[in-house]
Amino acid sequence: MKICRYDDDRLGLVEGDSVFDVSAALDLLPAQRWPIPPGDLLIAHLDRLQPEVRRLAARAPRRPLAAVTLRSPVANPTKLIAAPLNYRLHVTESAKDAGIHHGVHQTGHEGFATPVDKFGLFLKASSALVGPGDGVTIQFPDRRNDHEVELAVVIGRTCRHVSEADAHAVVAGYTIGLDMTVRGPQDRSFRKSADSYAVLGPWLVTADEIPAPGALDLWLRVGNAERQRSNTRELLMGIERQIALASSCYTLHPGDVIFTGTPDGVDSVKPGDEMVAGIERIGEMRVAVR
Ligand code: MN
Repeated sequence: MKICRYDDDRLGLVEGDSVFDVSAALDLLPAQRWPIPPGDLLIAHLDRLQPEVRRLAARAPRRPLAAVTLRSPVANPTKLIAAPLNYRLHVTESAKDAGIHHGVHQTGHEGFATPVDKFGLFLKASSALVGPGDGVTIQFPDRRNDHEVELAVVIGRTCRHVSEADAHAVVAGYTIGLDMTVRGPQDRSFRKSADSYAVLGPWLVTADEIPAPGALDLWLRVGNAERQRSNTRELLMGIERQIALASSCYTLHPGDVIFTGTPDGVDSVKPGDEMVAGIERIGEMRVAVR
């Protein structure tokens, strides 16, 4: 099932080029009062909502996807987790290009299986999160602002110390992530957390539709120029190990997101550009740069 959030927080079921308004399914979500439990209420109750989404869609009006504004399919993650240096060719390009590494990306990982084993994961501020229809607003126009297309894993339930063998069971679904990045000497948590520097979309594809997330083509174009193209089988630390590692450190909550890393081809964008980011079995999203 492909679930989107669009316009003024409507809930949509996506089929082909159409969206069906199934917002009435949100009535099944429990009422909340302070203090609200951590995590995204929709993602936490996605299993319960899916039969109602299907039932409503049968009678819902159909609208063309092109006529709606797509928001982030996850509204309230407690954290956006991300993997640095997790495709071999991106490690190579980072090491070669001072415009990327600024002397602070240490790419060597002697004695460790992968760079992520050595450096760990990092966090992006959840306030950076937007959807494709919101676009990216450049916050540091005099600096290099790069696109990084990534498979984004959306966690489905509260969990801790998840084994690699159990990792798929805690995944609600997958979406496309843009880990927008200002290059420079500061910490990643600063450079990658500016408002609008975390894009998720165009919708959430539930995990049952993607049985092999470790073998998906992904790509990114700016205008007509293809900048990035790879496959998630090239991930240095795979999805299951990333979930195990993340949950060995943090409790994961429904709606938490893991940006799994970007392949080579990262490059800068400027206001007026349009990025088209795609992943096999999910689709493509268009994101304006302002
Ligand atoms: Mn990244």
